Amino acid sequence: ANQFGIHKALKVLGVNSINEGTSTGSQKFSNGDLIDSFSPVDGQLIGQVKATTKADFDVVMEKATSAFKTWRTLPAPQRGEIVRQFGDKLREKKEALGKLVSYEMGKSYQEGLGEVQEMIDICDFAVGLSRQLHGLTMHSERPGHRMYEQYHPLGVVGIISAFNFPVAVWAWNTALAWICGDVCIWKPSEKTPLCGIACQNIAAEVFAENNLPEGISSLINGDYKVGEFMTKDTRIPLISATGSTRMGKIVAQEVAGRLGKSLLELGGNNAIIVTPDADIKMTVIGAVFGAVGTCGQRCTSTRRLIIHESVYDTVKTAIVDAYKQLRIGNPLDENNHVGPLIDTDAVNMYKNALDKVVEAGGKIIVAGAVLEGEGYESGCYVKPAIAEGKPDFEIIQHETFAPVLYLLKYSGGVENAIEIQNQVAQGLSSAIMTNNLREAEHFLSVQGSDCGIANVNIGTSGAEIGGAFGGEKDTGGGRESGSDAWKVYMRRQTNTINYTTELPLAQGIKFDL
Ligand code: NAD
Repeated sequence: ANQFGIHKALKVLGVNSINEGTSTGSQKFSNGDLIDSFSPVDGQLIGQVKATTKADFDVVMEKATSAFKTWRTLPAPQRGEIVRQFGDKLREKKEALGKLVSYEMGKSYQEGLGEVQEMIDICDFAVGLSRQLHGLTMHSERPGHRMYEQYHPLGVVGIISAFNFPVAVWAWNTALAWICGDVCIWKPSEKTPLCGIACQNIAAEVFAENNLPEGISSLINGDYKVGEFMTKDTRIPLISATGSTRMGKIVAQEVAGRLGKSLLELGGNNAIIVTPDADIKMTVIGAVFGAVGTCGQRCTSTRRLIIHESVYDTVKTAIVDAYKQLRIGNPLDENNHVGPLIDTDAVNMYKNALDKVVEAGGKIIVAGAVLEGEGYESGCYVKPAIAEGKPDFEIIQHETFAPVLYLLKYSGGVENAIEIQNQVAQGLSSAIMTNNLREAEHFLSVQGSDCGIANVNIGTSGAEIGGAFGGEKDTGGGRESGSDAWKVYMRRQTNTINYTTELPLAQGIKFDL
């Protein structure tokens, strides 16, 4: 991988062969076991990270709680200025960080750069937002009274993230939480711990340069047990967790059990509806990128195509042809379209899904395979596959985190396609390809898609930071990033001020002494 400049990138990012996995900023320490990070690109050990013990975590909590007392008193626009500097540092290190994302996670270098760009974009958004944390004013029913609401920071925000967006999800959360006056503790995925080290190094530099206290940005590392230090801790009012629905259900119950708040960003089972009025060329581009981009490991990856019977064969032929053009290989080589899956467990899940769809009576129309030989030594490279099936097959109801696309046929009106689309437990992203205004509006109406994201004439995959991002049902209901998602990182307070010499009670209640 070094021919792609990986060693230089690691150096720029301050990632060593052994790294302290616990950090409160410039202070780094860790007393846990070593976590290995192997690259799915070439199977090489990239580096190791020392996990966080409970005692390490308690130090982090102490620093975070104490840093909050300072950070919350800085005016929000000044916090915005720190986030602006952080965004600038990301611009300087974009290539290096994009490369590490690509090498440690396996997505293409272009997508790695795109992920860092998303971090930069959310910083810009947060800087502007730091002057717009608006509350409302209301008219009091009592004379000589003023009533308004304001937003205060929550305190310590715990962030648990997934392997597939190893840097951007953290930034979506931190950039907003920081301008809101919160401090953050991040546990990245144990599959991408070096991305966590790199990001924390960049943040720590900015906080140190501004003489801000340790603990505004902290990092912890380890598996679910380290995540549990946070979910069980009553000193953390908000847990933002991104990952599988299985994880989300456990985290939600743990946090609700102590009446904490959780923001959940969980799995998707995203579909594109292709109607008789679809532009076939656009459909093919949207569907193929959606299904094979990031090797099918985006939460918004296209998993199901729900195609009208009148255009079914045309769409099927065009997509099968497009799959023949796909180049699978090292994601740092920009000539390739599809990189590896994250690890061999993911490869087994992919193989299992293909077996299951056949067992259920489905038909494989583009065969899958695990690639072997030169360039594929990691054992994580697979061929994107396509299968035809029925909407209610159990495997099609599940999210398989791999490049397996299911073609489903519908007949009749668009409402039949919408019914199939909404039949799954997940509710993240959805799309319709149509030039028919009635179909498009029906899809977006109250009778339409039940997902958090519903697109017309673009695919399911990817989103801009300006909108609120998230989904319904088994996707967890949380919203991150743009719009008014910032409100979840703050507590709302209603204030009533009496500027008279009387004390009238609300609802006209008389209480004479
Ligand atoms: P995962 O659920 O295996 O792990 C996610 C994170 O949760 C990891 O950091 C893990 O250590 C932690 N974790 C697991 N169990 C925990 C527990 N009991 N307590 C505390 N922490 C725990 O998910 P993954 O394989 O890393 O990621 C893939 C999944 O993430 C897919 O389902 C994908 O759709 C989803 N995802 C969703 C979004 C979204 O925004 N909706 C974004 C990215 C990924």
